[in-house]
Amino acid sequence: MNAPLIELDDIHKVYGGIDSPEVQVLRGISLSIQPGEFVAIVGASGSGKSTLMNILGCLDRPSRGSYRFAGRDVAELDSDELAWLRREAFGFVFQGYHLIPSGSAQENVEMPAIYAGTPATERHARAAALLERLGLASRTGNRPHQLSGGQQQRVSIARALMNGGHIILADEPTGALDSHSGAEVMTLLDELASQGHVIILITHDREVAARARRIIEIRDGAIISDSAADRPPAAPTPGLQADDLRQRLDRGASLRGAWKGELVESLQAAWRVMWINRFRTALTLLGIVIGVASVVVMLAVGEGSKRQVMAQMAAFGSNILYLSGKHATSREAAGLVSLDDVAAIAGLPQVQRIMPVIGGELMVRHGNNNQSFYVGGNNTEFPHILNWPVVEGSLFTDADERSGAAVAVIGQKVKEKLLPPGSNPLGQYLLIENVPFQIVGVLAAKGASSGNQDSDERIVVPYSAAAMRLFGKHDPEYVIITAADSSRVSETEAAIAHLMRKRHQGKQDFDLTNDAALIQAEARTQNSLSLMLGAIAAISLLVGGIGVMNIMLMTVRERTREIGIRMATGARQRDILRQFLTEAVMLSMVGGVTGIALALTIGGALLLADIAVAFALPAILGAFACAVITGVVFGFMPARKAARLDPVKALTSV
Ligand code: ADP
Ligand code: MG
Repeated sequence: MNAPLIELDDIHKVYGGIDSPEVQVLRGISLSIQPGEFVAIVGASGSGKSTLMNILGCLDRPSRGSYRFAGRDVAELDSDELAWLRREAFGFVFQGYHLIPSGSAQENVEMPAIYAGTPATERHARAAALLERLGLASRTGNRPHQLSGGQQQRVSIARALMNGGHIILADEPTGALDSHSGAEVMTLLDELASQGHVIILITHDREVAARARRIIEIRDGAIISDSAADRPPAAPTPGLQADDLRQRLDRGASLRGAWKGELVESLQAAWRVMWINRFRTALTLLGIVIGVASVVVMLAVGEGSKRQVMAQMAAFGSNILYLSGKHATSREAAGLVSLDDVAAIAGLPQVQRIMPVIGGELMVRHGNNNQSFYVGGNNTEFPHILNWPVVEGSLFTDADERSGAAVAVIGQKVKEKLLPPGSNPLGQYLLIENVPFQIVGVLAAKGASSGNQDSDERIVVPYSAAAMRLFGKHDPEYVIITAADSSRVSETEAAIAHLMRKRHQGKQDFDLTNDAALIQAEARTQNSLSLMLGAIAAISLLVGGIGVMNIMLMTVRERTREIGIRMATGARQRDILRQFLTEAVMLSMVGGVTGIALALTIGGALLLADIAVAFALPAILGAFACAVITGVVFGFMPARKAARLDPVKALTSV
């Protein structure tokens, strides 16, 4: 003798209670269903048929009484096992079809198999075969709104059969159909019954019920007649046995589905939903797009200007110190750095080179050309200290320095602007403030590497000549010193300051600075600037995240019914969680990619506008990762909300 497949004992269902009046919907239903039966449950509208079916299909739990499925007490099953039953044992057919509106017929039919972990090729083939068998071969790509009611109901029957559909639960399957389509659906159910499927058909129509082999009539939540009671128990049928299902339930419910298939489906579904709502999605994503774009652009601009500063440091050298006189107090005259100080500093072991500088803008004439240039008195350390070689002729010598010779080395721009093109500058004379100087050399072009285009408009003459012949004073304006060890610039600075204070009776009447410090200070300002801009970017990412959360909450609310359908076809809670999390992450990923594209475009525009930008891959990846994390963080709450929905409530929501 067969074990009953389904055994209900004194099932009660009560709605309401706490804040609304209690409604007794089912009052002590007891029945058992054997494998191979075709049962119709009839009753007037409101008699509790749908409530009973939801309990039979494990979409809902009874308030009281026991339900044994293949011998297992359903009350003891966990949510994964219930999902397994809905997926593998039952197939639902509803009056309102309950297809997922964004999916095609084929995709709707495949859904239960996805949650069962069926490989894609097998799934595609089986869904196509089922649709063909139900006369929908040419409609596989249509979405539900492109199908007639009868066609939609056939799609939902195909879906119920996808994983086998051992027990078909059909709640008023013909209720919304015209008589012709209704008859077609009934013929289908007949066929399925004769193939060994258990059919539980719910209807208020006695004519429809007459197609079944057993009729159970309920009124006001209680059974008033059951035709099985008049007949001997059904003969054992071949095909599915209760024990089979039970063994599979015991084994299979804990097995995980094929995550790969589910992930692919999640991605496709996520993309579909996003595409259908693309305008709304685009608006909501602006936050993330702007956030990512600003992070990337700001970091790129910061990096670009940092690199520019570094290039300048390399061009001038980072071991350079500047020494000049200043007022020790506001009442005293400015202190002077004398040539004796220079000689004394030159004796320090930490000092590599030292050069006094005296200079200013002076009128320079050659032939009829007349222009003012910076003329500097320097010593022979000039090319070494400033890393600035002479490319034509040579620098003046120490002998020139001692004798105060009127010789000059000119910058590239001076040559271009004063001398006739193509002429040899060496040996020619310039009049600097009407003092003739003979050109002995030409400096390399510096502007290109330093970024300062004016640096080539300069003339270098011996310090002694400048002091005596041009400026009429002896003491240098300032002194340039290079440290012997560029990693110990500050030590060198301390030694010089100590010596200077000793020579100046302890007075701090001098200023000692270095390029590296200046550049570092500049870099620090830039860093704090980019930090601030980064904070702004972070805020806009946050706003973007809230946008994602908002759109996800909206999606969950709009698609509550879809969630119910997915649960009815066997989705586990984690499948729903994954689905909505995938959507949130994909949403923010699209935002991230768009943001990066926008950033690259802005970067290109800035480059065209001659602003230094340097895109760094880690910055781009980091911003993208932030966007994805935003999606996960802000998508989690709505996704969990979706996963925790009650299947029946979700299904019946409008
Ligand atoms: P049928 O399918 O036979 O028309 P239902 O099972 O849908 O009947 O409903 C039976 C009774 O239960 C109805 O009177 C209905 O108002 C009530 N009912 C159904 N669902 C709920 C609910 N969630 N809360 C309160 N009452 C409900
Ligand atoms: Mg109903």
